[in-house]
Amino acid sequence: MEKIIIVGAGLSGATIARLLAESGNEVIVIDKRENIGGNAYDYVDKNGITVQPYGPHIFHTSDKQVFDFLSKFTEWKKYEHRVLAKVRKDKLVPVPFNLTALFSLYPKEKAERIKETLISEIGEGKKVPILQLKKHQSEEIRKFADFVYKNIFYIYTLKQWGFKPEQLGEAVMNRVPVYLSEEDRYFTDEFQFMPAEGFSAMISNILRHPKIKLKLKTDAKKELTLSDGQIYFGGKPLDGTLIYTGCVDELFDYKYGVLPYRSLKFKFETIKKPSYQPAAVVNYTTSHKYTRISEFSKFTCEQKENTVIVKEYSKPFKKGKNIPYYPIPISKNYEHYKKYEEEAKQYKNLYLLGRLANYKYINMDVAVKNAMLLYEEITGDTVE
Ligand SMILES: Cc1cc2nc3c(=O)[nH]c(=O)nc-3n(C[C@H](O)[C@H](O)[C@H](O)COP(=O)(O)OP(=O)(O)OC[C@H]3O[C@@H](n4cnc5c(N)ncnc54)[C@H](O)[C@@H]3O)c2cc1C
Repeated sequence: MEKIIIVGAGLSGATIARLLAESGNEVIVIDKRENIGGNAYDYVDKNGITVQPYGPHIFHTSDKQVFDFLSKFTEWKKYEHRVLAKVRKDKLVPVPFNLTALFSLYPKEKAERIKETLISEIGEGKKVPILQLKKHQSEEIRKFADFVYKNIFYIYTLKQWGFKPEQLGEAVMNRVPVYLSEEDRYFTDEFQFMPAEGFSAMISNILRHPKIKLKLKTDAKKELTLSDGQIYFGGKPLDGTLIYTGCVDELFDYKYGVLPYRSLKFKFETIKKPSYQPAAVVNYTTSHKYTRISEFSKFTCEQKENTVIVKEYSKPFKKGKNIPYYPIPISKNYEHYKKYEEEAKQYKNLYLLGRLANYKYINMDVAVKNAMLLYEEITGDTVE
């Protein structure tokens, strides 16, 4: 069987590595970090709390195939994610904005009237994008939408992306619609769990296979050269396959310039009490420089003497200075990415996979799914 090199030991790289190894291929997985797991990496800190140094991750999916695949590598703990937004000094309301939030922020009679209009015009239980509500024919709904937009979306989006909501693709704003119900779960997927021993343990189990060789603390770029349709690895032409889950602009030596990303700065704090805030995540939608505070013990229900929180600040990405986290979802950037995508097509044995190489925000379930689809494309086999 042929030699396969996979760059990146995150969920994308680990999933494709496992599938290819199980079908008899020798696989080398390379990661420049000293740990596996990519951004989903976690560890138990000195307080006995599972901490995620690259930001809080919650697993959720409606894809049974993805859930069944991951269930081979972990037990699960039930966890349904709830988020609150601090809109005024002392007001915490559910996000996505729902009918409970409406009654919490408006006087009762006015809230009743708005609720009635929303339900008669749009329908009970519906999930509606804020930008759609802002254009609604009813003046009352438009005014309500302006209020929600101002208190929940506008400042948060500016802090998170450095752009106003209208400047981003509608798909980004549609990710967090307004709920015309009392549903207060952040995700409504069928499967919502945390891996019982953490994401690192789960991904480490995926990678544990006799045909997978793992090389950490190794920057693949130092080994790789791509020139005129030929990939060289360690100075020799590569006659196997390269699956790359790192930044595609870096792979091609920034030939078409640096792709724009948002980066993050995390400020971790140990608080000397068992609980800090009433929800796992509180978004700061009208104040403060940070976008949100996450409290790790609430994701895993492991209350201890101390609790650990992280304040998250969104920053512009600067090459070589900080980590690229989120591709910025505006059409200009996708056009820019396409140049790299076209360049990659010149290399028959190169496949781009994952959040960075595909320049697209994806949740973990989609990372696994895309790896399954790529496996099927490369081998012609179907994932069971
Ligand atoms: C702050 C944040 C919160 C998130 N929260 C959630 C959530 O709650 N739920 C959810 O489902 N998803 C969440 N995600 C998305 C999730 O992180 C991704 O779906 C997942 O990380 C995708 O995995 P990946 O393997 O494609 O990329 P990554 O996890 O980024 O892995 C890429 C790996 O490639 C390695 N690499 C890159 N270049 C090189 C190189 N030159 N040489 C060697 N190694 C290299 C990197 O070191 C890294 O380990 C979140 C993402 C972020 C940024």
